[in-house]
Amino acid sequence: VRGGRCVVLESGTGTGKTSVSLAGALEGISGTARKVVFLTRTKSQQKQVAVEARAIGARTDVICIAVQGRGPATCPMMLSDRDLSDGTSEELSKLCAELKKGTGPAGKCSYFENIGSTEVEACISFIRARHPDPEEFRDFCAARGICPYETVKKLLPYANVVSAPYAFFFIPAIKNHFLQWMGVSDREVVVIVDEAHNLPSYLRDSMTCRCTARSLDLADSEADRNGNPLLVQDISCKDIVQLMRDIMADAQKEYLRRESDMIPPDYLGEEMMVRLGMTSAGVRDLVMRLAEVGISIEESKKAKRKLPRSHLSSLAGFICAWMSFDSYSHVFLVSGGDNPYLEAYCLDPGEAAEPLSTCLSSVSMSGTLSPLKDYAGEMGLEDPVSEVFPSPFPKENLEVFYVNDVSTKFSEINSDDGTYDRLKRYVVDIVGASDRSTAVFFPSYGVMERFVEDKVPDALGREVYFERRGMPQSELMEQISDFLGKEGSVLFAVTGGRVSEGLDFPGRQLELAVIVGIPFAHPSAKQDALIGYCQNRFGNGWDMAVRVPAVRKMRQAIGRLIRSEGDRGMAVILDRRVASLDGLDAKLTSDPVAEVRRFFQSH
Ligand code: SF4
Repeated sequence: VRGGRCVVLESGTGTGKTSVSLAGALEGISGTARKVVFLTRTKSQQKQVAVEARAIGARTDVICIAVQGRGPATCPMMLSDRDLSDGTSEELSKLCAELKKGTGPAGKCSYFENIGSTEVEACISFIRARHPDPEEFRDFCAARGICPYETVKKLLPYANVVSAPYAFFFIPAIKNHFLQWMGVSDREVVVIVDEAHNLPSYLRDSMTCRCTARSLDLADSEADRNGNPLLVQDISCKDIVQLMRDIMADAQKEYLRRESDMIPPDYLGEEMMVRLGMTSAGVRDLVMRLAEVGISIEESKKAKRKLPRSHLSSLAGFICAWMSFDSYSHVFLVSGGDNPYLEAYCLDPGEAAEPLSTCLSSVSMSGTLSPLKDYAGEMGLEDPVSEVFPSPFPKENLEVFYVNDVSTKFSEINSDDGTYDRLKRYVVDIVGASDRSTAVFFPSYGVMERFVEDKVPDALGREVYFERRGMPQSELMEQISDFLGKEGSVLFAVTGGRVSEGLDFPGRQLELAVIVGIPFAHPSAKQDALIGYCQNRFGNGWDMAVRVPAVRKMRQAIGRLIRSEGDRGMAVILDRRVASLDGLDAKLTSDPVAEVRRFFQSH
């Protein structure tokens, strides 16, 4: 930390990464005005930071504050108005700015008005004394009738540890505000990135933009509702929407041969120029005018305390973003399906990762970050200190096997050589070989649904709970709670999904994992482009874009079994291709049922 270096480390769950990194970083900044910013992917990880800060706070002065985006939990105004609950953070931020000023017809936000200096002092004393987690702090604010979101902003200058979602440090507009609220510059911040294996894909998504057929319908209706404003002499908002529909349809005709396909980077810009008979500057002006119409729609909504959402504004934003990207950093796609889209997908997350290099120092850590040099390369980290710490837990507590007569490879699982029937038999027999709480992880929802249609859950003779496609978080949590409430039940989930990557199952909550197939990414134009990009830039396209993510997902799923020194568990991978995948320490077995029985009899 003092030397301003970047650290990249892998160490398994339960090994104390959070406390060690936090304690080390705090020691490094002690006696200075610097701050530790702990970035997490989920809110539950922020809670963990608070727990560790509380323990460290017993020995040294720690003021740890959790920042979260505006949402029903942090903005009481949203809680009281259900119409606001599906707003994006940008929309809510615009509305909030209006309500704080209180100069418009929508009036003032009382939760903001109530935050006086006495309240700030009371909060600081509360944090010093109790080291609350984000929920406890929200309850404290609720009891005093103050807005947690705005109160946190006022408290940040007093904090020496701030936990926040990734967006606060990697989305430039948010980061600038965030640093301002804390009262520090980049060079005064030590950043710790938790679950850093997620960061490259998070950054890619944050730099990707998409325009769907449905979003064009919404823009069209919005233009209708607002009198279809003219942008220039004879071109209206609806004309632009129709133009986009035509361009998308023609791109489909010309380029689409599978679910989605690549189109030339300048396709959209050139088509707009040709069809509108304009120069590139003319198109740019037209899009700016569209954005202005969108902004005025947002303003009028704000004045009525409504979400300042404009689909015309989003369309203008999409066109501008598309035209600003190049073929090095992005691939340009058109898709088919029910809701076709044009998409500029980010291949190179390096630019978005720049804050990792411009801060004072950074620690990127995860239980599954290997190969560390790939991560450092993608994030543009120069000469990092890299270290993989082997698991300190007894080796005999975890056994991983695989079988070599099945696979979920498309051509095999759909052949008539009995592969699919053998897979089903394995799942039923392996689950039946023990009475322990078991998770069956599938490589995709599609494969899981096929097993469900074929009544595999019924054949297990046990309670089965599900992580289903598109399930709201609250429903998933209900399924998990029921699964945990009944020891020995079975959970069907997806490798790489919310269960396998984000939930903890300590002790006997989960002891057996059956991993059906290898979760290779679905072949697609996007995937091809990613392989090509990694090949050109790092010389190992298939490895970086295909093998490593699949192995990481399986390691994450297996990692659910062992969360502490006393945990034990067994995983069986049902796919012969494991033999050729580096990075998984699995033994071949011809009788996984006997292995499961032996393991649990001996434990
Ligand atoms: Fe919501 Fe707070 Fe903004 Fe009021 S000040 S709108 S409660 S975030």
